[in-house]
Amino acid sequence: MTSTPIMPLPGNVDPVPVPREVTPRADGRIDLIGLTRARLAELFATAGLEAKAAKLRGKQVFHWLYHRGVTDFAAMTDIAKPMRPWLAERFVIGRPGVVEAQHSADGTRKWLLRTDDGHDFEMVFIPDADRGTLCVSSQVGCTLNCRFCATGTMRLVRNLTPGEIVGQVMLARDVLGEWPKGAMDGLDGDEDEGGYSADGRLLTNIVMMGMGEPLYNFDNVRDALRLVMDGDGLALSKRRITLSTSGVVPLMARAGEEIGVNLAVSLHAVTKEVRDEIVPINRKYGLEELLAACAAYPGASNARRITFEYVMLKDKNDSDADARELVRLIKQHRLPAKVNLIPFNPWPGAAYECSSDERIRRFSEIVFAGGISAPIRTPRGRDIAAACGQLKTAAQKLSRAELDRLAEEKQAALG
Ligand code: SAH
Ligand code: SF4
Repeated sequence: MTSTPIMPLPGNVDPVPVPREVTPRADGRIDLIGLTRARLAELFATAGLEAKAAKLRGKQVFHWLYHRGVTDFAAMTDIAKPMRPWLAERFVIGRPGVVEAQHSADGTRKWLLRTDDGHDFEMVFIPDADRGTLCVSSQVGCTLNCRFCATGTMRLVRNLTPGEIVGQVMLARDVLGEWPKGAMDGLDGDEDEGGYSADGRLLTNIVMMGMGEPLYNFDNVRDALRLVMDGDGLALSKRRITLSTSGVVPLMARAGEEIGVNLAVSLHAVTKEVRDEIVPINRKYGLEELLAACAAYPGASNARRITFEYVMLKDKNDSDADARELVRLIKQHRLPAKVNLIPFNPWPGAAYECSSDERIRRFSEIVFAGGISAPIRTPRGRDIAAACGQLKTAAQKLSRAELDRLAEEKQAALG
């Protein structure tokens, strides 16, 4: 086991330290997952290959790792036979460790995963009639502390590496048996625009909505998603990937430019007072700034709308006036937006209750009447605590008093 630096607490809101990109394992071999073609070639050159050969091997190995999903160098049939044991002596092809896999009555699946240095995080797969969505984590725990979110109460926080992020998608493809088979057939050109992909895969969409604030782990999330989007990598269209942020305003434009996926914003409130309370990053980057950053988000259009997530909390943010103000704000900023109303998912120790069904319906109607789509999201996987905001690894359970102290510390750090 390698030891990795853990961010110092209390909750610094700036990007947190991460383990080195290339961490040799106890046996001295290096895990290749998460590395780019160029890094692979560099490593092969350092290990003794001549530059041109290293570059070619980099390209070949990249294809086998990310496009074909092989975990054994022996399966890399276009690589010269003597070369395969040479690779196996020096490198490994890893996956996150699986501690536990759970199945919900509604088909949702949740995996408790473990990093090489022993930190637990979660991944969720949500099958629907016309798509299958993988909910991917970006951090162990979360740097932030939204009041209604269980992940925000976790004390331990570390950024996941690109390998640990892309590794989740790769593990899901392993479990679902969805790597392309046959000779170099690939998935190229198979990305259709509706429903299941042309080759009938179950895993069609990715949302960066698991544990963590993806924009506080910007570089690693970007590098991982580039591997996911690479035509010779996992080859998933950027239109099928959504990144959700609680509102890290200074990094939103870069997310649009350098990643280019769909944007979801955890809005959850329409007044400073309420948003300051439930989404404390609002104290640092206020509503006006956030909405202006949404208006400027590269690539947003009526065809590719920004999603505003809005968790329905009883007597907190769910009045008719809130719904009307939501419409007004979206119109004022001329945002190509849709609203996703999320019934609050309870967790032990949460200070809120979910709004009534009737209240949620009424809220939705008002927003629809304002000309903005506002569907109500059906909670999925609640029975295995896999629903939005329920992700939290048991190892870090804290007492109520500790939670309150942690919330204060994190909020103090926000200034
Ligand atoms: N950190 C990112 C992405 C992860 S959370 C973000 O905050 O956007 C994914 C979504 O679930 C967010 O909109 C989040 O606010 C919401 N959520 C968190 N806790 C929830 C809960 N208990 N019930 C319903 N939704 C919740
Ligand atoms: Fe972190 Fe998102 Fe949960 Fe807020 S809602 S604590 S940003 S994971």
